[in-house]
This record gives sequence, C-alpha cells and structure tokens, in this order.
Amino acid sequence: MPSVILKKAADSFIKRKHPWIFSGAIEKVEGSPSNGEMVQIFTSNKKLVGSGSFSPSSQIRVRVWSFDPEEKIDIDFFKRKISLAHSLREKIIDTSKTNVYRIINAESDELPGLIVDRYADYLVCQFLSAGAEFHKKIIIDVLDDIFKPLGIFERSDVDVRTKEGLQPVQGLIKGTLSEDFVEVRENGFKFLVDIKGGHKTGFYLDQRDNRKLISEFAKGKNVLNCFSYTGGFSVYALASGAEKVTQIESSLSALELANKNIERNGLSLTTVENMNDDVFKVLRKFRDERKSFDLIILDPPKFTESASQIQQASRGYKDINLLALKLLNPGGILFTFSCSGHISPELFQKIVADAALDSGRKVKIIKQLTQSSDHPVSLNFPEGLYLKGLVCLVN
Ligand code: SAH
Repeated sequence: MPSVILKKAADSFIKRKHPWIFSGAIEKVEGSPSNGEMVQIFTSNKKLVGSGSFSPSSQIRVRVWSFDPEEKIDIDFFKRKISLAHSLREKIIDTSKTNVYRIINAESDELPGLIVDRYADYLVCQFLSAGAEFHKKIIIDVLDDIFKPLGIFERSDVDVRTKEGLQPVQGLIKGTLSEDFVEVRENGFKFLVDIKGGHKTGFYLDQRDNRKLISEFAKGKNVLNCFSYTGGFSVYALASGAEKVTQIESSLSALELANKNIERNGLSLTTVENMNDDVFKVLRKFRDERKSFDLIILDPPKFTESASQIQQASRGYKDINLLALKLLNPGGILFTFSCSGHISPELFQKIVADAALDSGRKVKIIKQLTQSSDHPVSLNFPEGLYLKGLVCLVN
C-alpha cells in the first residue's frame, strides 16, 4: 500500500484524531496513489498511525478512515460503521412517526465524505470525497444488505466533488425509484419530496427538531416564513393553530410543493399567502407598507462557500435580520438561522445583536438551536457543526 509520511507539526492533529490531513502537513508520499486509493499514514518518526484515502487534487490530501493501524478497510469495516450509525438513529428517532432522517453524517459517523439519508423506503447518498467514491461499490452493497431499500439514489450533483477531482453525478444506483415524489413522514406530518431534483438530498432534514419547536410558538399567530422551500415550517405552524402563514420563496416549484404538503396534512390553504419572490425585496416592501407579524422565520440558504466571503455573508444576514426585527409586533418571536459553516455561532449572534441595535428593538435570546440530532457533531471534528439558530423575543 502507498504511504504518506507526515511532518513533525502534524503530530498534534494525529493525537486529536482529526480525520483531515492537509497537503501542508505531509512530508513525503511514497508510491503513487491514485484518486481515493488507500494509503498508510506514518508520523515523522515512522510510526504507523492509521490509514486513509488519498486525494491528490484536494487541499485535504488524506481523509482518515481509521486511526487503528491494525484495522482493515474492507466490507466488514463498512458493515461495522454503518450499523453503528444506524443504531444511533434507532435510539434518537421515533421511526413510527418519522421515516425521513440522516443515517450517515460523514466525518461525524467516522465515514469521511459519505452522506446517507433515509426517505421512507429509499436511501439517498452523496459521495463527497475521493475515498467515499473509491469504496462506493462496497458501501452500496452494505447499505442494500442492511436496509433493504426499494431503491438507492445518488445525489452527488454538488460542486465540492470537483475539489476532489470528481464529476458531479446523479442517478439511481440500485433498485427502482418510479415515483416523481416520495411521501415521507416527519413527526407524523406528511411531506412529498423530490428526491431526484430537490435541494440537498430532497429535504432539509437538519431542521426537523426546529420545525417541531415552531409548534410551541405558532398558535393564533400571524406567521411569516421566509425561504420557505416546500413548506416545512409552515405545516407545523398551521397544524398548531397559526392564524395565517405567509411564505416567501424564490423557487416556484418549491412553493407549489409546499401547497401540496399543506393540503396533504388536512390543512387549509385559505390562511396561506404565497409570494414567489426575493426575500430581501419583499421584506423591504413589507417595511414600507408597515406590515407586521407575530412570528418570523428566517432560514436562508448558505450565504458563504468560503472563508473569503464571510464579510459579504455577514452583511446579508444582518440585512434580513434587521428588516425582520422591524416587522415584528411587540412580544413577537424571531426564529433566525444560519447554515453557513464559516459563520461561527459567536459571529452569528454578534450579527443578530448588531441588527437588534440598529432596529431599536429590545431583543432577548430565549433559545439557541442547532442541527437535528441525526446530524451529530463528532468532538474530533468540530467542522461538523454548521447550523445555528436563535429564537428571539422582540419588544
Ligand atoms: N426552511 C426550509 C428550508 C429553507 S432552504 C425547510 O424547513 O424546508 C432555503 C430556501 O431559500 C430554498 O428553498 C431556496 O430556494 C430559497 N431562496 C434562496 N434565496 C432566496 C431569496 N433571495 N428569496 C427567496 N427565497 C430564496
């Protein structure tokens, strides 16, 4: 097997069992490993410390599969890791009410670059690293054997693949998927999901716990759901007795699916207003019209893909938070989120605090939110935490 020999400075990374080895930490590569191929990892004083997959075109040159030099990365390895990840989900998800959740959360489930989500009888995968791609066939066979899904669909149609020297790809890899929309259940609510063309793997699974929390705040409220996608937060709000829900979403197909989802749960569209428009623009229009709401949800897409965009992203977050704060009635509630990994929880809170100052409102955090528990964050991989949310009381 080819090997990489690390620099002395990399010892501390190895000690902390961080699964990424950057190109700058490598002293020497012995042999000529191809994309994703297995390499043995040696410290500067030639001690074998584990094995990983080589990725020649990425700054993350090696992703570590195991810090146990004895452990073989074979079918039994993937069986063990996938079964372990599955058993965690069985503990935290009530599968009688929820059949849509993340089974494998990449690095945080010790399977770097591999995402596997369950959508009722189907599995949807993303192979985001050269190593995950290298072991794809074995991984698919193990998934098929453990979960026996009707179909396994790949949604590796994401740009990060190109950093790993891989093309974005999408399509069925096992079994069948004949439906255009798959019906799933989340906390007892029904949702139609476009597995083939929806965002991410089809649904924002990471917001499940936060959508549930909306139920506690929405009764009798005039709700504004910004960046509403297929109506996740709206369904929970309407079911718990919201007086009205206004949805703003730039994707018309997502809004149409939101309508179907609302009706599918026996809820009426008469108290729903849809705006197929830009949130930044509509919030300004509402401000000029002196509209007001009791509960506002801000769940924007990622505003930054790299550290160089943090400032620009911060301005975007401040803008929508400032506008939303101005639109809230006294005693109103703001659910505000950021899913940009480059924005830390501290920075996000600071941005919202700046918006609060400029708005002239008195704002208190009453809850701090994060991604749902099926998106765990391994303590040796803090980068796994990306979703931050604040529930604010606004006076
Ligand atoms: N809260 C949703 C997920 C939101 S994802 C849920 O629980 O399912 C962010 C959404 O914002 C996407 O649907 C995207 O189409 C939409 N979007 C992105 N930019 C937008 C903009 N400027 N105005 C309105 N919608 C936008």
